[in-house]
Amino acid sequence: MSVTQQQVLDALSRVASPRGVPLTNANVLSAISVTDGKVFFSINVDAAEARAWESVRAQAEAAVRAISGVSTAMIALTAERKPGAPQAAPAAHRHAHGVQPASAHRPPQGAASPMSKQAEIPGVAAVIAVASGKGGVGKSTTALNLALGLRDLGLRVGLLDADIYGPSVPRLTGISEKPQLDDGRKMIPIKRFGLSIMSIGFLVEEDTAMIWRGPMVMSAITQMLRDVAWGTLDILVVDMPPGTGDAQLTLAQNVPLKGAVIISTPQDLSLIDARRGLAMFKKVNVPVLGIVENMSYFQCPECGTRSDIFGHGGARHEAERLGVPFLGEIPLHMSIRTTSDEGNPVVASEPDGPHAAIYRAIGTKVRDGLQGAIAAA
Ligand code: ADP
Repeated sequence: MSVTQQQVLDALSRVASPRGVPLTNANVLSAISVTDGKVFFSINVDAAEARAWESVRAQAEAAVRAISGVSTAMIALTAERKPGAPQAAPAAHRHAHGVQPASAHRPPQGAASPMSKQAEIPGVAAVIAVASGKGGVGKSTTALNLALGLRDLGLRVGLLDADIYGPSVPRLTGISEKPQLDDGRKMIPIKRFGLSIMSIGFLVEEDTAMIWRGPMVMSAITQMLRDVAWGTLDILVVDMPPGTGDAQLTLAQNVPLKGAVIISTPQDLSLIDARRGLAMFKKVNVPVLGIVENMSYFQCPECGTRSDIFGHGGARHEAERLGVPFLGEIPLHMSIRTTSDEGNPVVASEPDGPHAAIYRAIGTKVRDGLQGAIAAA
């Protein structure tokens, strides 16, 4: 029998809030999502009280997990500071399950403080972000093919689809199964193409993903970083949500990133957006490994002729001007799109083709940019 929202509410009514009233009467619960035995919601409290609520969050999670038929319970504690409230105590509030100090979901002031960085993920040598200033530039397609290019270099690679507003990795990889839990109740990433893959899209319906608010986004992503049994990885590629707003900035600030790759198309507008991406990572002291120009030129699928329909080379010049590495240019090519749409990315489906070679070359530069980090681990 499938789990109902009422069962979840009944279980939560037996958990007491710090002031003694049942959790369900404390006016702190978000909407509760229950799909296929997977339960998601957040407890939204004032930052000053976050510490007292952490054990309530843990009890709530235990209570929900104890319901027969529940396979995953992801319960985020989100702490919002009331205007004029005193500063919350520093990161002692933080818990692997997602208590964020209030500062974590506000735009950081200047450079990131070391306190605001999450600890490294055990077993993962380097986490890198693939980011873009706006949507639709091919960020997810590039993240996946780059991950495969890195795999081809003999590295152990994971892919985390953190694009919580529109997870596309399930479609790009053709994965429709749900992750299982291991003995330690961590989610086991799905193995496909030799990559360890995790996406919020494996867990929630697409429209649920769309309504997540800023603090919940961070909590969910923190949980996907921490509560997934990643195993030993050389590189974990994080497909970031597009854009450079508060959610992205918070993510860049809180995920223990060793570097970032910015995807841009040649059009001037997206270069302006790419510049914003660069500025964002600079602000939080994450090294930019370089810029990739996607849809750089049109390559005719029939005759292979190249046309620079967007005026090409902008990203290379921009990278030079800004003093960041230029990682390579990827053509706008039918087979990159069709293979993505079929859930069989081009590096996997046409490993000997010209596009796979381009992604591998970009992967080589990324690996070289991270060399210290990978070797040190
Ligand atoms: P984003 O993650 O930036 O929103 P996607 O990776 O989802 O972008 O790509 C948007 C669309 O563009 C998809 O249909 C994808 O197949 C297509 N696409 C991405 N890169 C290329 C490319 N180099 N050549 C052809 N189509 C591409």
